[in-house]
Amino acid sequence: MNTAVQRFDVGVVGAGMVGGTVATLLARAGLSVAVVEAQAPGAFDAAADIGLRVSALSPGSASILAAAGAWDRVAQTRSCAFSRMHVEDGATGAALDFEAPEFGLEALGTIVENDLLRRVLWDLLDASAVVQRFCPARVRAVQAGAEHVELQLDAGTRLRVALLIGADGADSALRGMAGVAQDVWEYNQRGVVAVVRTQRPNPHTAWQRFTAGGPLAFLPLSDGRSSIVWTRPAPEAQRLLALGDEEFTAALQEAAGGWLGQVLESGPRASFPLTMRLANHYVGPRQVLLGDAAQVVHPLAGQGVNLGLADAAALAEVLLANRRSGSDLAEHRSLLRYQRWRRSENGLMAGGIHALRSLFTPDGLAGMRGLGLRLVAASWPLKDLFLRRAAGLGRNAPRLAHGESLAALVQGP
Ligand SMILES: Cc1cc2nc3c(=O)[nH]c(=O)nc-3n(C[C@H](O)[C@H](O)[C@H](O)COP(=O)(O)OP(=O)(O)OC[C@H]3O[C@@H](n4cnc5c(N)ncnc54)[C@H](O)[C@@H]3O)c2cc1C
Repeated sequence: MNTAVQRFDVGVVGAGMVGGTVATLLARAGLSVAVVEAQAPGAFDAAADIGLRVSALSPGSASILAAAGAWDRVAQTRSCAFSRMHVEDGATGAALDFEAPEFGLEALGTIVENDLLRRVLWDLLDASAVVQRFCPARVRAVQAGAEHVELQLDAGTRLRVALLIGADGADSALRGMAGVAQDVWEYNQRGVVAVVRTQRPNPHTAWQRFTAGGPLAFLPLSDGRSSIVWTRPAPEAQRLLALGDEEFTAALQEAAGGWLGQVLESGPRASFPLTMRLANHYVGPRQVLLGDAAQVVHPLAGQGVNLGLADAAALAEVLLANRRSGSDLAEHRSLLRYQRWRRSENGLMAGGIHALRSLFTPDGLAGMRGLGLRLVAASWPLKDLFLRRAAGLGRNAPRLAHGESLAALVQGP
């Protein structure tokens, strides 16, 4: 049993897409980082079929991942950029379209496999001389002092860090240990996911249709197939999972209203519970929460990872400013600044998605939602505002999202 205390600038618990990104950014900026992860990602096999879990990453997220040194490898291995987004209301037929060139962008987003991104980040952490990975490992106890936080891992390992970052997902153990409460809305819905082949290939379009019971999204994949996220009431989702392939593709085709023609084939299906959660506090003495540990949003706007990556970039911005000015890395007022910044942004997004979801339930007002979509479609400033936020390029987005380099954060404004 190793009981000697090992010291690091930062401890990151959870090396998912968000924890892996913040750890990589901070290590590239020269901080020593301990990464504690319960389960290492598997090897990524580009010859295997496209995975079930994918994320639509915004241009802002792509810039953050480029600063972390991960983007080129992800984009070149297997990904699908899309230049068009289409949102329609199944009941009224009202629709809203976004085209990348209208906004001076090359792409509105990129579909990336979660397993690939996680693996690329894990390999970057492995290659870094200032990172030590503890895996498989979990935190057993946390003790925050005036100068540092001490962590006890299972197997008796002890770590002392100036700042502890909790990126251990929606059921964050660190959030629980810190006694941070959260507001929770259970939607009693599940997101059914599958990779499907349609008569016509997906024309690089992220397509979403609001139907009674929940939205249905088709996200484009590099081989012309689509990754679907179909939100259904929980019992109905279970029923869809239990259907035979032909019955499932027929039900999907009907819900899609024939978009892309016949649904010819579906791969394996899975479903995930959908909730909204917002932690009451993001920071405590020498401790910070980010990503799903801090907030969980309904996937209808494809924002969960994007918010988490913006958290990671914002935290790096705050910490590197502390480092430049020679102050304590985990200076509490700066952590509170991070909390004000990110909690208000994420709370606004979570509230907006929540309201949108309510409007599109069977009880929602069809007239109102049709009017809403038409209003945004007709108003360039509103459309631009919506798109910039969804693209992670809003006024309050972190500097890395706007394409600034990590070196600029290390050296100064
Ligand atoms: C159906 C569906 C579709 C979605 N689509 C999109 C989309 O298109 N775009 C988008 O932006 N978001 C999307 N999301 C949301 C997105 O998947 C999450 O926001 C994202 O996975 C959160 O990443 P994270 O790194 O914060 O947490 P996680 O992915 O949960 O990672 C947490 C990490 O911590 C580790 N861990 C957990 N507990 C411990 C512990 N006690 N000790 C050590 N390590 C621990 C885990 O092993 C894991 O590696 C979708 C979600 C769903 C359900």
